Amino acid sequence: MQTPHNRQGFKRMLATAVTGLLLSAAQAGEPIWDANKVELVSQKMADGVYALYDKKAAEVNAKGGAAATSGGLIVGARGALLIDTMLNQRLHQQVLQWHKKLAGKPLLYAINTSAHGDHSFGNMYLPPQTLVLQHANTQAYIHQHLEQDKAFMMQHFGKGRGIEAIKVRAADIIVPSGGKLELDLGDKKVQVIDFGFAQTGGDLWVWEPASKVLWSGNPVIAGKPALPWLLDGHLLETLETLEKVYAFLPADARIVPGHGVPITRDDMRWHIDYLQAIRDQVQAAVNEGLTLEQTVARVTLPEFGGYALFGWVHPSLNVPAAYKDLQKK
Ligand SMILES: [Zn+2]
Repeated sequence: MQTPHNRQGFKRMLATAVTGLLLSAAQAGEPIWDANKVELVSQKMADGVYALYDKKAAEVNAKGGAAATSGGLIVGARGALLIDTMLNQRLHQQVLQWHKKLAGKPLLYAINTSAHGDHSFGNMYLPPQTLVLQHANTQAYIHQHLEQDKAFMMQHFGKGRGIEAIKVRAADIIVPSGGKLELDLGDKKVQVIDFGFAQTGGDLWVWEPASKVLWSGNPVIAGKPALPWLLDGHLLETLETLEKVYAFLPADARIVPGHGVPITRDDMRWHIDYLQAIRDQVQAAVNEGLTLEQTVARVTLPEFGGYALFGWVHPSLNVPAAYKDLQKK
């Protein structure tokens, strides 16, 4: 297998690895989760602050499985803000239904936490007056790679799930690298923050300070035993970013992860401890002059097992990402 040196390299590897991992499912053309079947529910986090997630997420998360995309809705006196627009029209419509039911105010903004299709493909179905917010790198990525991304998403989420129809809807507000901006919903001021490279380099975090709720997108995929997917590499930067987010959050903050039910700040330790363990053990292997293959064979970290995708994300993505980072030093 070639050493992945860029996003496309990782994506090709992902395609191979997921197909291999979920062999019987992939052969049967079954998606990781089915966007034609998922039902999104809402959870009130505070007045006007809601998490939206897969009805089965709690059960799936507990088993270490992969739940559908989570998002959210924040409703202020002036109007509402949506976090993530979902994979297809069907799921997007469910989100709009929750907006209609919970807000009773216009949808002013929609934020994509990353360029990944399950967080952004629904943009084209938003009401025309809703302003779309993206990181500059997300905007650039979508403009350059939408067709590739659609093919990739269809491979893992199936054909006939509405992905074929997706077109770009350009963002109205761009958050630059390292940027932070505040959206005024009247009685609520929502912060949109780039804390640094976290999974794609176009990662936005949404923070509602009054309720102390943070939306992470995919960089925190779900609570234990889920683990980060370093699809684009950069273990060291990802670790640094997660540590920065952890330090930013008050102890009683809650996090709506990219694919699961809300978790606590303490729950983030699992992800940080895991990345630190990889860093330390891979560093030792690099110091001894081990090859990538030898390093993957040695750094197995069974204490972080339990995630259904462990056999793929750990040896195929995360350890190689650390090896590449640490070899450069
Ligand atoms: Zn996702």
